[in-house]
Amino acid sequence: MSKINNKFPGKDITLDDLKNKFPLCAKKNNKHQTRFKVNDILFGGKLIPIIAGPNTVESEKFIFNVAKFLKKNDVHFLRGGAFKPLTFPYRSKQYFETREKGINWFSNLRNKIKIPVITEITEEKYIDLFCKSIDIIQIGSRNMQNFPLLRACAKTKKPIMLKRHFGCSLRDWLGAAEYILLEGNNKVILCERGITANHTHRNSSRFLLDLQVIPALKEICHLPIAVDPSHATFWEPWVESMTLASIAAGADAIMLEVHPNPKKSAVDPLQAMNYKKFQNLKKKMSKVAISVGRTIK
Ligand code: PEP
Ligand code: MN
Repeated sequence: MSKINNKFPGKDITLDDLKNKFPLCAKKNNKHQTRFKVNDILFGGKLIPIIAGPNTVESEKFIFNVAKFLKKNDVHFLRGGAFKPLTFPYRSKQYFETREKGINWFSNLRNKIKIPVITEITEEKYIDLFCKSIDIIQIGSRNMQNFPLLRACAKTKKPIMLKRHFGCSLRDWLGAAEYILLEGNNKVILCERGITANHTHRNSSRFLLDLQVIPALKEICHLPIAVDPSHATFWEPWVESMTLASIAAGADAIMLEVHPNPKKSAVDPLQAMNYKKFQNLKKKMSKVAISVGRTIK
């Protein structure tokens, strides 16, 4: 840890940060690693849990069918947004939120299909509903520094996935995680989902996957780290290679957007993967995981 001692004060993470800004997130020694189970699925161990599903909960039938497919294909968690903090406020028939209805569908399918669920919360007033209906609370990028929301979610002691804001440094991200740990909730998964960079390779690249943040984080922090290559690339043809690279780089979980008919995805249709591609990708994920001493099963 001595290497990071005040080399670039004010920019990089310093020893003072580890001691005084995010002491609860900081590793106490090299082996310090947080492990916790969510529905018998261990985060922070050898297993790399797979979280998959559509961008958005489009209808009850739709999410049930996707859940059934994913369960059959050994996916550990179902994802999908019922509350969507979309970049632009206009909604259409294709571009909507199912809100409380969507959360209730999750609650039903979780009982029937027995697949645990992660979904994004946007407002404190829905915390009780989330606590009884889903398994992991997702704090979206856009709310990474919504501190009252972080604290309120942390107090429930539910596991939380904290997505990195696309404009925030690792230092800011750990500062946000510290708010959750400070409430006595250690069940935190950090999720890298791409950052904004002026120089990307095509106009449609909204974000750039910060793969380097994985080893950087592991040097100083004991929390498991997930990667969401779908949001990071915004472009399905790049999702496979970035998923495999994330596993090779040490990701502790992978979140993927999977949709039965990506072109028809209500939100972000360019980044979703179809069923067949996902099944093929899983085989490759397994091989890469094994090569770095991990597993996806
Ligand atoms: C999502 O996972 O559905 C999502 C909106 O991601 P992010 O907050 O990273 O943009
Ligand atoms: Mn999105």
